[in-house]
Amino acid sequence: MSDHTTREAPMGASLRGWLDHLAGTGRLAAATPGVDLRFGLAAVANRLDGTQATLFARPGGHDVPVISGLLSRRRWMAEAAGVEESELITAFERACREPVPCELVDSAPCHEVVHRDVDLEKALPIPTHNEHDSGAYITAGLLITRRPRTGVQNVSIHRLQVSGPDRLGALLLPRHTMEFFREQESAGEDLEVAIVIGVDPLTLMASQAIVPVDHDELEISGALRGSPLPVVRCVTNQVTVPADAEIVLEGRLLADVREEEGPFGEFPQYYGERAQRHVIQLDAITHREDPLYHTIVGGGREHLLLGGIPREASFLSHLRLSFPCVRDLHLSQGGTRRYHLYVQVADPQAGEAKNVGLAALGTHYDIKHVTVVDTDVDVHNPTEVEWAVATRFQADRDLLVVPGTQGSKLDPSTADGFGAKMVLDATVPVDQRGMRFTRIRVPGQEAVNMSSVAPAAADWHARAYERG
Ligand code: MN
Repeated sequence: MSDHTTREAPMGASLRGWLDHLAGTGRLAAATPGVDLRFGLAAVANRLDGTQATLFARPGGHDVPVISGLLSRRRWMAEAAGVEESELITAFERACREPVPCELVDSAPCHEVVHRDVDLEKALPIPTHNEHDSGAYITAGLLITRRPRTGVQNVSIHRLQVSGPDRLGALLLPRHTMEFFREQESAGEDLEVAIVIGVDPLTLMASQAIVPVDHDELEISGALRGSPLPVVRCVTNQVTVPADAEIVLEGRLLADVREEEGPFGEFPQYYGERAQRHVIQLDAITHREDPLYHTIVGGGREHLLLGGIPREASFLSHLRLSFPCVRDLHLSQGGTRRYHLYVQVADPQAGEAKNVGLAALGTHYDIKHVTVVDTDVDVHNPTEVEWAVATRFQADRDLLVVPGTQGSKLDPSTADGFGAKMVLDATVPVDQRGMRFTRIRVPGQEAVNMSSVAPAAADWHARAYERG
C-alpha cells in the first residue's frame, strides 16, 4: 500500500477553468462590449463587487478583453483552493510551510506572441479606475524578481503607473522586492523583472503570502495546487514566469532613476500621494494568441481580500508559536483587511489576552487595532466582535494604547506611517467566568429540522387550531 494519493487539481489551478466555473454557476457577468476604459469599466466592476466577476469585451474598442472580480469573496477563495471556507486559512498556512518547487518548461502558452517593440496602450487595454488616479494603472500584475546573489525569486503585486509606451512608475514598499533592488542599485545595476498579468487564482493568492525573504511565492502556488507550477524563462532576461499566464511584461527596475508617480486610489479607500518613485523600463511583451487582461479595481473587495487572507494565515501561525490559546483570527472588511485584527483565544490565563494583543501588533506594521475575544464569539463576524466589546470590555481596565509606533503610510490619520496602536481585551476576566458571562442559548436550536416549517397559507387562522 502506498500513502501517495493523487489529488485532482483544485478549481483555482487554471484561470480559464475558474472563469468556466464562475460562468457555470451564474457568477460571471458579461458587460456590453465597448465599455469606456476610463472609469466606465471600474464603475461596472464595483457595482458587481462581491457578487459577480465581470468580463469586458472590446473595452475602449480594444481587441483584448478585460476580466475583474475573480476572487471577491472568502468563500470563492476556498472554492478555488478546493477546501471548506473554515479550512482556508489552515490550508494556506500549510502551503506556506510546505512549498512545492516549480517545474521549468521549454515552451509555454504565454510566449505564443512576442513583441520586442513595446507600446503598452496599443498592446493592452489598461483602465483608469478612480477619480483622481494620475492615469492608467496596471493593478493585477505579479512583479517577479530574481535575486542575482541567490537566484531565488520573489513575487509581489505593486501599483504600476503607465508613464510612457515602454515605461512604468512603481510603488515599492519596504519589503522583499525593495531589498533585492537595493542590493543591485548599490552595485550600479538594474534589477531584472517580469510583470505577469492574468494568472490562475491560486497563484494570485500565493503572490500575497507573508513569508520570509528568499521564499519563492510561486512554490506556494505549487503547494496549493498539489503539483509543481510550470514556469518558463523570460525571452529577454533570467526571470521565470508561470507558463500558463495570459500576458507577461519583461523589463528592468532602473538603478538611480526616480520619476513622479501617483496619485492612485488605494485599499484604505484613499489616494496614495504623488511622489518620486521607482521606474521600470520594459524590453518585451509576450502573451497568448487570445489573451485576457486582468484588472483589480483599487479599494474593491478583490483588492482587500487578496491582501487579507494570506496575512491571516501568516499571523495565525506566528501567534500560535507563542500562544497555544490562540484559536482563530480575522482581518475585517471595515478595517481594510489590514488595520483591524480580531483574535479568538481559548481560556486564556489572567492577562494573557493582553499579551496576545500586544504580540499581534508586532506581526506586521499595518496592524493598528487588535480586539481579543473568547471562543463563544464568532471572530469572522464583526457584529459578534462588537457585541463582545459592548458587553465584556471596560475602557479603564481593558484598553491598551501604544503611542509612537510604525504603521501604514497609506493610513491618512498617521504622520507618514507614524502613529498609535490599540489593543481591546474583550475577553471575560478570568475571575468572572461563570453564569454572569454565559451567553443565552436555546437548546436544540441548531439541530431543529426546518423542513417541519413551511410558509403559512391565507387561512392561517383556521389552521392554527388543526390537530397534527
Ligand atoms: Mn516575498
